Amino acid sequence: MVTVIHPAERTRNVRYAVRDIVVLAEQAAKAGKELLYLNIGDPNKFDFETPRPLIEAAYRAMLANANGYSPSSGTKQAVDAVAREAARKGITNVQDIFVTSGASEGIDLCLSALADPGDDVLVPSPGYPLYTAVLARLEVRENSYYLDEANGWQPSVSDIASKITPRTRAIAIIHPNNPTGSFASDETLLGILDLARRHDLVVLADEIYDRLLFDGRTPRSIAALAPDVPCVTFGGLSKVHVGPGWRLGWGIASGPGEAMAPFLAALNQLLRARLCANHPLQAAIPVALDGGCPHLPEVMARLTRRRDLTVRMLNEIPGITCVRPEGAFYAFPRLHIAGTDTEWVHGLIRETGVVVVPGSGFGQVPGTQHFRVVFLPDERTLEKAYRQIAAWQARWLDTHPG
Ligand code: PLP
Repeated sequence: MVTVIHPAERTRNVRYAVRDIVVLAEQAAKAGKELLYLNIGDPNKFDFETPRPLIEAAYRAMLANANGYSPSSGTKQAVDAVAREAARKGITNVQDIFVTSGASEGIDLCLSALADPGDDVLVPSPGYPLYTAVLARLEVRENSYYLDEANGWQPSVSDIASKITPRTRAIAIIHPNNPTGSFASDETLLGILDLARRHDLVVLADEIYDRLLFDGRTPRSIAALAPDVPCVTFGGLSKVHVGPGWRLGWGIASGPGEAMAPFLAALNQLLRARLCANHPLQAAIPVALDGGCPHLPEVMARLTRRRDLTVRMLNEIPGITCVRPEGAFYAFPRLHIAGTDTEWVHGLIRETGVVVVPGSGFGQVPGTQHFRVVFLPDERTLEKAYRQIAAWQARWLDTHPG
């Protein structure tokens, strides 16, 4: 008789739709389908490369034997570079800066330092599934607030206001947003900051896509709009600096020092307990942040062509509408279909090999159906994928009359 090893209860609700879908894709590949991956936000899987000066800085650091542990908050050079970046972003009242293994670890540690089981944290819906996964593990309630599709996926300030409870500890804003590519207006951000101010909430400002903006938009840091509100702003090398595999991110804590001190002390305890982020690669942070990002104009030129192609081709498909993304490299088209987006996406992957992620993996207004596309692949691949999506949608509409 085998005595099975039961997993901990807290793992029961941990999901991560972006990678969970890969299992299905692998089955389609085994069945002989050519896979077109539009599911993962990794620029290096496509025609984008980590800028050479970052690689050279990391290499030089390794040769100089920066291969031991670093201080838990990061090397002085990296922390100072993030402080200069905070100043460029207009963030004042900085209380702490810390370097982490991707923004993911920073978000995880901040939520761990802040919320107890039974507390809740406001997170965008649709939003990035890391928040759902971490909160499930911490047994903290995910308190979803909606982004308004009819209003370019702007966060709904009235929905947020209606959902604040006595146990709400923080509000996460993803800006620009994954999975919709929306960029919140100053009016929306000021509305949310005012709620945070009045209800003593910490704002978790996820700005990992801060410089990936279309149509001449300029970056806008949430914390810069309210120096009196406790904020932690997250950034990293993964997206803007094309190095997701390096697993380096940072957090900038800003706001009222005295009020934030106990939370930041707890956060630093957690930072010390996991020793440090990757040490030699931190040498690339000053190069990335102070170097003016000379690679970005070409990156944005390519992404703009791919965004435009995505919006045009998807909106031409009967029963699909797509709001124009303003930043990042995602679109979140709506399916006007009978049936669920999960069934639709599973069929798409099985029948065509085009891999996208069902909207249900990111959260959405009940009764609505969506899917997320990553428009990092080149135009030829995208065109091929969207033609397959059009054919699949035609089949679906035929076989599932509404
Ligand atoms: N936050 C958002 C909104 C993301 O989309 C991602 C990755 O896709 C992350 C955080 C994770 O960033 P990192 O690679 O720095 O952990």
